[in-house]
Amino acid sequence: SAQLIDGKAIAKDIKNKVKAEVDQITQSGARPPQLTVVLVGSDPASVVYVSNKVKAAQYTGITSDTIRLPDTITEEELLKEIQILNKDPGVDGLLVQLPVPSHIRERMVCDAVAPHKDVDGFNTMNIGRFCVDEKSFVPATPAAVMEMIRRSGVSTFGKNAVVCGRSKNVGLPIAIFLHGDEANGNNAGDATTTICHRYTPPDQLTYYTKNADFIITATGVPNLITADMVKEGVVVIDVGITRIPDPSRPSKTKLVGDVDFEGVSQKASFITPVPGGVGPVTVAMLMRNTLLAYKKDIEFPNMN
Ligand code: NAD
Repeated sequence: SAQLIDGKAIAKDIKNKVKAEVDQITQSGARPPQLTVVLVGSDPASVVYVSNKVKAAQYTGITSDTIRLPDTITEEELLKEIQILNKDPGVDGLLVQLPVPSHIRERMVCDAVAPHKDVDGFNTMNIGRFCVDEKSFVPATPAAVMEMIRRSGVSTFGKNAVVCGRSKNVGLPIAIFLHGDEANGNNAGDATTTICHRYTPPDQLTYYTKNADFIITATGVPNLITADMVKEGVVVIDVGITRIPDPSRPSKTKLVGDVDFEGVSQKASFITPVPGGVGPVTVAMLMRNTLLAYKKDIEFPNMN
């Protein structure tokens, strides 16, 4: 049965490396990196995600600030708030927790964040640069997926990869990573990459997954990937997170991924659990991006 790719352990390792660098910075007398998170409204999942980011920042020595705004805020007011934070020299990394309320355009918000502070990598400038192999802030979840694949030790070079999900912030950038030419930098995978989505018919999805050496699924559809759909030895990265009723504890809920873990782990060579898989590594990658922002590692000529 499959070997577990332990997200918690990997996250800890990444955070310890960030912490060591932050310690060096503060020991030299400089201020530590600062991450500012804007949270609009009080979506319960968002509140949990933000608190995980704050905890990780604390662990690494990165200072953080959460700016909570009411869900009645207008788009204009929110954009003004972002402009203030863009200009604040004490803010290195800046992110607006998504989703924003439906009366606010997500694209306007993502593009308002200054590219050099955009630690989520959702600004069009960073997305575009990522696509053309220029140095950029890479979104944390796709970066986490690549990190976990790398740590499995299995090479993606020339292999078949299937990505389930095509969202702009998750599925698409995962596919960009996997298909790209490593020779051009950006840690790309050199895999033959297929993107499946909600309009991929089930029989076609199975056709592709059966031929896949790597399956990365980011849909939020529990049990989308079952044992009969995969080949022996596949590497499975489960990005999905869905809260469902817990059959073993009445009136309680639990988190599950997109993969039938029990079945698929009988055939896979490596697999990530949910929870304790991609989630914690994502948060660790955000800390890494915040450190990069502090060091002004990714330059935007004429924009800073
Ligand atoms: P989304 O709703 O924007 O996108 C879901 C995608 O799944 C869409 O592209 C859709 O076409 C595809 N899809 C739906 N049904 C499908 C099917 N039957 N077959 C193939 N594809 C199908 O969601 P998102 O923001 O991309 O997030 C995806 C999942 O990943 C969610 O469960 C989310 O909670 C989770 N997530 C996890 C992390 C993490 O750090 N682990 C981060 C972000 C999102």
